[in-house]
Amino acid sequence: MVGITDRYIREQLEMRRERLTTAIASAPAPAVTIRFHELLSEVDSALQRMDAGNYGICEVCNDPIERDRLIEDPLIRLCLDHLSSEERRALEGDLELAAGIQRSLLPPTNLQLLDWQMEYEYKPAGLVSGDYCDVILPSDSNGGLTFLIGDVSGKGVAASLLMSYLRATFRSLSTASLDVNKLLEAANRLFCESTMAGQFATLICGSAGRDGELQIASAGHCPALVVSTDGVKQVRATGLPLGMFSTSHYTAERIELQPGDSLLLYTDGISEARDRNGNEYGIESIAHFAHKCRSQSLQQFTAMCLNDVRRFSGDTTQSDDQTMMVIRRDKSANALPVS
Ligand SMILES: [Zn+2]
Repeated sequence: MVGITDRYIREQLEMRRERLTTAIASAPAPAVTIRFHELLSEVDSALQRMDAGNYGICEVCNDPIERDRLIEDPLIRLCLDHLSSEERRALEGDLELAAGIQRSLLPPTNLQLLDWQMEYEYKPAGLVSGDYCDVILPSDSNGGLTFLIGDVSGKGVAASLLMSYLRATFRSLSTASLDVNKLLEAANRLFCESTMAGQFATLICGSAGRDGELQIASAGHCPALVVSTDGVKQVRATGLPLGMFSTSHYTAERIELQPGDSLLLYTDGISEARDRNGNEYGIESIAHFAHKCRSQSLQQFTAMCLNDVRRFSGDTTQSDDQTMMVIRRDKSANALPVS
């Protein structure tokens, strides 16, 4: 789903029109003026197509043009399949660069801090991903470990840009030592005020402190799973996705983990993965399999859970980004008193 309206693209076009008109009025060099006039007529033509109802339709095949590409460049007139080989090479080069940048924004794997171990697997469906995954280390010895997992609307480059925006926002806000629900509220307000209006993100923000205590707050994200010897408990979202209402409130859930227990987080590319008959993998399957292999080492556990999704999907193409993050309390940690 791309949560962007035609109104947003129209505003973008009208804004470009206004800027070009102003730039032309300032009488730049003749060669520049010619280029500005060409661009202005392309903007006008896009607005006319919008009025006529055929905006965003490929001029070669009449199929809809990819929406995330229109958001980046509202003037394009061809779908990905009908780019010239030169345009295609340029686009592939940009995508590879974007993918490299995105990989460099991921947290380290196999983290160990306080009584906690953390591991994650990040599998984009294409070169770049709209999934968000981060771990922020405490700035002082009293602070907890902040972890985040999310899924932004759309796919491809537009979604990956939104993912980097979220990462930067949470990293800046994390220095204020807010509770996880307040952190979500602040990030949501900034998101709603940003130019990325019309896009959404579901997200879980958590903090891992001392003595096995976790706090998590969820903005409309898939249920978190607490995996223990007794079974698997789902912790459901209590808040709306980020980007919907600037006044959204979030609540923090407190969870206590015994040594060896895990908190498993994932994106809907995993819970909604499908087999060749269109059946969905589902949260129950994640929970069932996670409970079965809960005694494995954290790295093995994470890899095995993801392999089971792959086994289920068989030879179908991965259609959505998949991310899984697991936070486990060390087996050697002191057990909590039974309450
Ligand atoms: Zn086409």
